[in-house]
Amino acid sequence: MYPKIKRKKTRVVWVGNVGIGGDNPVRVQSMTNTDTRDVKATLDQIHRLYEAGCEVIRVAIPDEKAVKALKDIVKESPIPVIADLHFYTSLGEKAVKAGIAGIRINPGTFKNKKNLDRLIEICKERKVCIRIGINAGSLESAVLKKYKIPCPKAMVESALNWLNYIIEKHDYQNLKISLKSSNWWETAKSYEMFSKKSDFPLHLGVTEAGGLIPGTIKNTMAITYLLLKGIGDTIRVSLTADPVEEIYVAFEILKNLGLRSLHPDIIACPTCGRCEIDLMKLYKEVENWAKNIKADLKLAVMGCIVNGPGEAKMADLGIAGGKGVGIIFKKGKIIRKVSEKDLLPTFFEEIEKFLKEHPERLHLTTS
Ligand code: SF4
Repeated sequence: MYPKIKRKKTRVVWVGNVGIGGDNPVRVQSMTNTDTRDVKATLDQIHRLYEAGCEVIRVAIPDEKAVKALKDIVKESPIPVIADLHFYTSLGEKAVKAGIAGIRINPGTFKNKKNLDRLIEICKERKVCIRIGINAGSLESAVLKKYKIPCPKAMVESALNWLNYIIEKHDYQNLKISLKSSNWWETAKSYEMFSKKSDFPLHLGVTEAGGLIPGTIKNTMAITYLLLKGIGDTIRVSLTADPVEEIYVAFEILKNLGLRSLHPDIIACPTCGRCEIDLMKLYKEVENWAKNIKADLKLAVMGCIVNGPGEAKMADLGIAGGKGVGIIFKKGKIIRKVSEKDLLPTFFEEIEKFLKEHPERLHLTTS
């Protein structure tokens, strides 16, 4: 059972061929952390992210060399590429010409408005989606002066000012918005407030959230709070970790909200004094294997034969280990008993058999 979520109807914008907003599923995106100038390393990471389910990828363009590399990256990337721009508009213009599908700017950091106007016009000509990325740490001085601190009201005012500016001055609407802070509650409140005032799609995320565990918690709290209220069209779980982890966390959030699933759901017992098998190792192996499977499936990894099948009878298929032996069960009923060494290969074999019998469970696309 999952919560009933009524998603807010936002307008649809396009990042290349990926629709964001409206009835589109909540899109999952990430950002590379390789040196963009290293085309091979960046493309390798993009491919790993794509395999994990990433739908749109952002890359930093710190200098001319990075923009030069962008051309090859865009050409070879299996998913639309967004350039992340700070301060220098000439790099932005070159990035647009290199074929990017989107650009992320924080307009308040542009000192020269004429340059900003030129960049927006070039984006408009090539239908490049612009994300107005408001960040609590870099609000423009006029707004900061008014509110004293970068509070949600200040962030919303800044975002609305820029949104209206681009719409009115440039008649361009392929835009999405983010309002990020490193504090999850401030972030959530900013998005909530903004969403009441605009129907432009929102890119959710907490910025500078930290490492895998603290970052996952901060992002999950903000993103879950908002998605439960129907707010949010695309998410980036920002982590100080391998960006591929961001994709796994993003899909875990969406899966647990009943919004989207990609990889199998794995239930596992925490183990107790009855456990007679190295369950942590077993779990890790199942988890790693399942990351390569795109299917709607519930698997269980349990620590003892006596209680495991009963405690995990909601699983489509599960394993439980005992002293030197293991069992495989289907909906709580034991179907095979094998030696411990054969447990995992037999389990994977049974899952593949199950998926052949239930092809409707396979996700052929991520949407
Ligand atoms: S399945 Fe067995 S080992 Fe795991 S928590 Fe339950 S009783 Fe303990």
